Amino acid sequence: MQRKIVLIAVFAAVLAMLTSTSFVRGQTVATAAPQAPTGAIATTSTSAHFDPAAATDAYLAKVPPDKRAKSDAYFEGGYWLILWDFLAFSIVFLLLLVTGLSARMRDLAERITRFKPIHTFLYWVQFLILTSLLTFPLTVYEGFIREQKYGLATQTFGPWMGDQLKGLGLGVVLGGLLMMALYGIVRRLPRTWWIWGALTSLVFLTFLFLIAPVFIAPLFNKYTRLEDPAIRDPILSMGRANGISAKDVFVQDASRQSTRVSAFVTGFLGTERIVLNDNLLKRCSVAEIEAVMGHEMGHYIMHHAYKDLMFFSIVIVLGFGFLRKGSEWALGRWGDKWRAHAAGDLAALPLFALLISSYFFVLTPILNTYSRVEECEADIFGLNAARQPDAEAEVDLKLADYRKLDPGPIEEFLFYDHPSGRTRIYAAMRWKAEHLHELGNRE
Ligand SMILES: [Zn+2]
Repeated sequence: MQRKIVLIAVFAAVLAMLTSTSFVRGQTVATAAPQAPTGAIATTSTSAHFDPAAATDAYLAKVPPDKRAKSDAYFEGGYWLILWDFLAFSIVFLLLLVTGLSARMRDLAERITRFKPIHTFLYWVQFLILTSLLTFPLTVYEGFIREQKYGLATQTFGPWMGDQLKGLGLGVVLGGLLMMALYGIVRRLPRTWWIWGALTSLVFLTFLFLIAPVFIAPLFNKYTRLEDPAIRDPILSMGRANGISAKDVFVQDASRQSTRVSAFVTGFLGTERIVLNDNLLKRCSVAEIEAVMGHEMGHYIMHHAYKDLMFFSIVIVLGFGFLRKGSEWALGRWGDKWRAHAAGDLAALPLFALLISSYFFVLTPILNTYSRVEECEADIFGLNAARQPDAEAEVDLKLADYRKLDPGPIEEFLFYDHPSGRTRIYAAMRWKAEHLHELGNRE
């Protein structure tokens, strides 16, 4: 316990240090900006002396300091939320164990029926509702108040709450099914459950990812085919040139929830969809949309969905190994106090939740880095496919509404699941520097 407190204190100290130094750095860049040759972007595009670093600085200088300070504050607040979320949920899970509430929830489930899978389901419903209620203030702050404060949300409280309840409903049904399967395995295979549990979870997650674009995403947003030929045709042409025979691009009505500009690829094995959101459509030029779609096609062509599956297989198998070791140790020590005696005992579920959330908390930088590396690959693919480095840089500036533009390298390593604005704009300018003659010909 003491080691955990030390770990958290170290995390908090590192966080405080990182955000303060990067703030200083952000300020110096902003104040140095007026001296930077802001006209460089336009005038040097045909010159042999195009300097990618200077062009990057010039782009970053286009964002006014107050706007920059606001998005920095928003994004840095997100680092702290990783910590607060982890702590809040850990406290709730521990409370359920030490107060004996978890054991009472199990007893209640067992009184209602004799059928074991239903025990699991009934326990799960109580667990999910109770933890959601206890962490509700944090959820409201994080998902609603904070988004409103930074002008990123478009929803009033009622519709936001509606989305939350839909999410809870999905958690009850889908989580309930997974829990029934997992507890069935733990009870029947007391020694090897962690392997079979990992495999079952993987199959379940794969299935979820497969059905999500078709059955889950439409619960929260409308997806329509992009009809405007002026935007659609260049995208489909770029797709054909890269071996994607898709006939459609989908538009998500993300403006229902927020002002964020975004695009993504979901699904696989034939349920793939390349989606751009309506905020992007409203706020970007055709060249900028092409730059974004080139990036999304990169994910698709480089089979990132399949690579993610391989990567998460490793993460999940190791996670289950950790669950087994960790639960044996903790139940051996405190099992009697918690009236939770074995892995297959439902009363021990908060312990598993605590262990798995600790596992993912510690893994945060690794998961972020894995994602960020793929995003860098997609950026480079997108530059080669769309050949729009300046449009790419403009979009990167628009993404800075909610992502800090210019972090320090350690900060980017720890917290960024996409490259920072500076990294992305530099990649675009580096590409541009090597293609100046071709771009000149085209113009
Ligand atoms: Zn991406």
